[in-house]
Amino acid sequence: MAALPNRPGDFETTAHAIVNGETGISNGTTQPTNGETSPSAVETISADILIVGGGFGGMYGMHQYRKLGLTVKLLEAGSSFGGTWYWNRYPGARVDSETPYYSLSIPEVYRKWNWSERFPDHEELRRYFAHVDQTLDLSKDAYFNTIVTEARYDMAAGAWHLKTDDAYRVATCKYLVMATGSSYKKHFPAFKNLDTFKGQLIHSALYPTSGLSVSNKRVLVVGSGATGVQIVQTLAREKTCQLTACVRTPNLALPMHQRRLSLEEQNAAKGFYASQLQAAKQCRSGFPYDPAPRPYAQTTREERLTLWEELWARGGFSFLASNYGEFLVDREVNRELYAFWAEKVRARISDPAKREILAPLKQVHWFGTKRPSLEQDYYEVVDQEHVALLDLKAHSIDEFTASGVVTRDVQTGQTRHRDFDIVILATGYDSLTGSLLDTNLFDTSNAPLAQKWKTGTYTYLGLTIPQMPNLFLVYSPQAPTSLSNGPPIIELQIDWIGAAIKKMREEGVKYIDARSEAAVEWREAIQKMNALTLYPETDSWYMGANVPGKPREQLIYLGGVDTYARVTSDALDGWKGFDVVKE
Ligand SMILES: Cc1cc2nc3c(=O)[nH]c(=O)nc-3n(C[C@H](O)[C@H](O)[C@H](O)COP(=O)(O)OP(=O)(O)OC[C@H]3O[C@@H](n4cnc5c(N)ncnc54)[C@H](O)[C@@H]3O)c2cc1C
Repeated sequence: MAALPNRPGDFETTAHAIVNGETGISNGTTQPTNGETSPSAVETISADILIVGGGFGGMYGMHQYRKLGLTVKLLEAGSSFGGTWYWNRYPGARVDSETPYYSLSIPEVYRKWNWSERFPDHEELRRYFAHVDQTLDLSKDAYFNTIVTEARYDMAAGAWHLKTDDAYRVATCKYLVMATGSSYKKHFPAFKNLDTFKGQLIHSALYPTSGLSVSNKRVLVVGSGATGVQIVQTLAREKTCQLTACVRTPNLALPMHQRRLSLEEQNAAKGFYASQLQAAKQCRSGFPYDPAPRPYAQTTREERLTLWEELWARGGFSFLASNYGEFLVDREVNRELYAFWAEKVRARISDPAKREILAPLKQVHWFGTKRPSLEQDYYEVVDQEHVALLDLKAHSIDEFTASGVVTRDVQTGQTRHRDFDIVILATGYDSLTGSLLDTNLFDTSNAPLAQKWKTGTYTYLGLTIPQMPNLFLVYSPQAPTSLSNGPPIIELQIDWIGAAIKKMREEGVKYIDARSEAAVEWREAIQKMNALTLYPETDSWYMGANVPGKPREQLIYLGGVDTYARVTSDALDGWKGFDVVKE
């Protein structure tokens, strides 16, 4: 099999490899990867707790669980820490959560760290993860370039046994923490003849580490989600690049209002970080933004416009988090908010055709039910002559050829060949469930997770899975995850797991196992809440709708971070919903 395109810089991987699925996690039968002579024996990594995944979750977990006096080891597919930000190096990749809320609440980490911008880019984020590693001395217990390919629980021994893609490396532990993230398994749409394309085909999460010149190149960007917007906004700065951006659903992007941060202001603010980062865990969104002053129904149109102008001027996600919550449940409110957004954006696009594609007067999906991007000058950039928009609702991509794509006019049926040197797939992920399913977790009856979740996802509390004793999830399906700011919810989950393990040890518990009926109830409660909102009316990856064949269901707990913290903490008291087996 060809080398897996599973490292940043693996863009040379051919279109053939991508199309033939040589893109994910290998099957565990590969030989040792270091090219040296084979070790004489299989190495067994053994620890009280094994963590899979070296992003925020894994790093924070190592630090917290060491404090419990446990041995902790971490296994990570990439060659260093960073998780999402290890993989995502595409042009313009930066976080949409603002400083300091997209960082860990560990004082020894933030005391010696300063950000250069309100919304840091991927390079700065990787430097931050290196700082966290160094400050907390994490690397010594981490195994990089190690993909976990299977995990099974041994009831008698009370231990998880893991296989990796290195046949000579296995692992075993009492407690297994899956910090494999929401956005690790890349999604490649099934375009006809994609494997025949002879130019460079790049998934955004595998962008060449050394960068890629697009000057005098014809570049197609497929996907107009948050990543597509960032890539187009950045590549279009190169005026000799003929850039074509596909738009099927326009991104209802919000202003970022990026700015430089000074050392002085951060030093002055650090005294408040502890309370600010704590507050982030006690609110709905993981950002302690102020709520809308009054319910929508008690406001005048003038008051609403005043609030919306104020939030627009702030920049960032406070436009959603501080808005009238009614916009997610009431169509009229949502329409009014969309009209405000469209007016703002349309004023920035001079080309009438582009204006209609990017900010049509007729609303195409409910505001806030898809992940919006934060943009800086996206609309001005796209308005330029060297940037073309390919409206996929009017011109579908029929197939790929060696030198580009064939599009079809949806109304006339007329086809046209378009030449490209580079195609960038900003087509996202098999989000939330993909990385867990690919890790081949087996339950105690030997059923693989893929079978258990074939028709729907069943976790209990977004933290555990029935018949998978002592296995815990982080940044997971059925938790606030992608509808909240990452680090606060990750810390809450890691701390919940720590509290559960501490309690187990105090009570002499061998393992806890979530009851199936508790998982069914948890799922039902999420779907019931979802039915009260506008989310189910939109095709989004929150709903599993971006990947063909994936069950359509709300994958996010919609009750907010604060409620989630309370409900999960209550469950620990008396082990509600768990079977508990003593040593
Ligand atoms: C482009 C992009 C932009 C984002 N922007 C934001 C934002 O603005 N705000 C926000 O809050 N969140 C954002 N996110 C979500 C982001 O993923 C989280 O904020 C956070 O980084 C998740 O951390 P994590 O540790 O849970 O998982 P990750 O950072 O995803 O790390 C998971 C790790 O697990 C490893 N792994 C997976 N499977 C295996 C296996 N079988 N064996 C070994 N290793 C494995 C992966 O290599 C990966 O390094 C963004 C995500 C993406 C992709």
